[in-house]
Amino acid sequence: MQALTNRAKVVDRKPMTFIERLYLWNILKGMFITFSHIFKKRPTINYPEKKRPFSPVFRGLHVLNRDEEGRERCTACGLCALACPAEAITMEAAERKIGEEHLYREEKYAARYEVNMLRCIFCGLCEEACPKDAVYLSETPAPPNFTRESFIYKKEDLLIPDPTKEPEAFKKAKGLS
Ligand code: SF4
Ligand code: SF4
Repeated sequence: MQALTNRAKVVDRKPMTFIERLYLWNILKGMFITFSHIFKKRPTINYPEKKRPFSPVFRGLHVLNRDEEGRERCTACGLCALACPAEAITMEAAERKIGEEHLYREEKYAARYEVNMLRCIFCGLCEEACPKDAVYLSETPAPPNFTRESFIYKKEDLLIPDPTKEPEAFKKAKGLS
């Protein structure tokens, strides 16, 4: 039969010698390869004790932003959810009441805001779509967990610390310190 390429190798079907039948030589060869790796640089790291540096454009967990007065910026317009290709964002809007002006920047706010990190592909389109600078992707990777529910991040998990109450935690979350 004519070969399509000249890369085919002819299989050696010679009967095995006595040494080959003992497999000792092959075992020694295999052990030599294994032991030779002891002296090579390891490509793996001891995660989570050691962590690899991430790329400067890495996108991690979402943060719901506040303004400088500590008010929630999100107005529950739904544009982030609409832009999300993975349908990972869910929210419920609520009307701001009189006396809540110090809590919410706009007249409408997100009473519920959830991101399903198992769906999210960390594309950053929600951040791009937001007209209020209310959501951004931080440099913190989503930590591993054992249950599916734990990957659904609620508003309480996503909200940035209040800069008027916890200025240091706010700066840290913003990557300013
Ligand atoms: S980063 Fe992308 S996939 Fe994740 S919630 Fe935002 S738009 Fe959706
Ligand atoms: S995070 Fe931004 S885009 Fe999403 S609902 Fe809130 S204001 Fe709208």
